[in-house]
Amino acid sequence: MTFGLGRTRAVALSGLDGTLVDVEAHVAAGLPGFTVGGLPDTACAQAPDRVRAAAATAGFPVPPHRVTVNLSPASVPKRGSGFDLGIAVAVLAASGVLPRGAVEPVVHLGELSLDGRLRGVRGVLPALLEAARRGARHVVVPVENVAEAQLVDRLVVHGARTLEEVVRWYREPAPGGLPVAERATGTDDEPDRRPDLADVVGQPEARVALELAATGGHHLLMTGPPGVGKTMLAERLVTVLPRLGREEALEVHAVRSLVAPVGEVARLDRTPPFVAPHHSTSTAALAGGGSGVVLPGAVSRAHHGVLFLDEAPEFKSSVLQTLRQPLESGEVVIARAKALVRYPARFLLVLAANPCPCGMAFGKGTECRCSAHDLRAYTTKLSGPLLDRVDLRVHVPPVRPAAFGDETGEPSAVVAARVLAARGAQAERWRGAGWSVNGLAPGHVLRRPPYRLAPSVTAVIDRALDTGGLSLRGYDRVLRVAWSAADLAGRTTPGREEVALGLQLRRAEGTAA
Ligand SMILES: [Zn+2]
Repeated sequence: MTFGLGRTRAVALSGLDGTLVDVEAHVAAGLPGFTVGGLPDTACAQAPDRVRAAAATAGFPVPPHRVTVNLSPASVPKRGSGFDLGIAVAVLAASGVLPRGAVEPVVHLGELSLDGRLRGVRGVLPALLEAARRGARHVVVPVENVAEAQLVDRLVVHGARTLEEVVRWYREPAPGGLPVAERATGTDDEPDRRPDLADVVGQPEARVALELAATGGHHLLMTGPPGVGKTMLAERLVTVLPRLGREEALEVHAVRSLVAPVGEVARLDRTPPFVAPHHSTSTAALAGGGSGVVLPGAVSRAHHGVLFLDEAPEFKSSVLQTLRQPLESGEVVIARAKALVRYPARFLLVLAANPCPCGMAFGKGTECRCSAHDLRAYTTKLSGPLLDRVDLRVHVPPVRPAAFGDETGEPSAVVAARVLAARGAQAERWRGAGWSVNGLAPGHVLRRPPYRLAPSVTAVIDRALDTGGLSLRGYDRVLRVAWSAADLAGRTTPGREEVALGLQLRRAEGTAA
């Protein structure tokens, strides 16, 4: 055997940001030893134990000499066991077992078990998106990760079961090179049986609000007694939102890749995500965090989709506060000792609340047992900066038996077509503005030319502003919604009717104006 230097590639992840890593192994005369340098975490620093055992099983033990592995750039932390395969391949190349030239340009990802099997790892999608951007072409991954790896364009994916298999491929190359993994079936979008707006009985106002929310990206609050279908409505919002583009879908699945069980990210689902954390959820679970690896939270899993907080006033105030940063900037930034981790978090927020703690306020016959103090404490939980960003507020009343006779409501596909057309109009209007939907348009832009509306059109809200019935923020919310209503109606500018609708849809009972 000829000892020396072996080199291959792997990818380090910080959040979703990948860095292509050079894995360099050096085998030299000296006391037996095996060390990994270049900022490995505990799991990564334990790679030598797994590599030693797996290599012995494969029939090519790590030589009893001084083995030094370096992962560079050294400034980037290397987390987890996904470097095992790259380290094993580099060491075997350094020991002369594997051809050095052949392994060098290939990206190797995967954990080794002591018996030499390759185990799937999380984060393969974001890692390989970066590898592809950096010009990598061939990747070897565990078979569980093959379908996920194949979501990345321009990569040739090789799926291996064991280290032995990888060693054999390189030592006895087939004429065409490493065997290419078969294309997993169903990597394209397969529409499932999804919930549909046609299932919703009655609720005309909530339907209008839902359509406007999808159109302009307006956040939405629904108040109403328990059992009237607020959750059902919220779940159907994703069925009228535009389907995700390929880039958007890749971002959504990159986040999923970090939290879903290995192997679950196997095809690009173009339906926007719907994420509904329970009101007992922690700050870390909502915004992201955790000890050790910083994982994305619900706000990031809802990226490009809907974040639904049912019984919103029951969430801890400190947890609700963490929504402010993503609502403002579309991302969360989590500070850690060695790095800032960023995750995208641009979502449509849907809040649902009972009208009071017992749920019965404003009902017929009012059996509400809550005191005025209870009621105030409940509603103020949702006031202030959070509610300022919610353009649409509707009351969802109990369905009257008369509504059962109505024919079913419009199906999602019909509503989605109108939403898509209205999105097109907004994209034209806001081209180059830095936002693409009315819900993100700053109020001052809408109050000034060329978007200022005629005084005759705004008379009703001008008066409300003068008399204190409407705050300036409330005024701006009405304008934003009016623009979306106009886009849905195919009008170039909102008229009196759209402004009146905007005003009507921001008055949920029990919430501050
Ligand atoms: Zn009550």
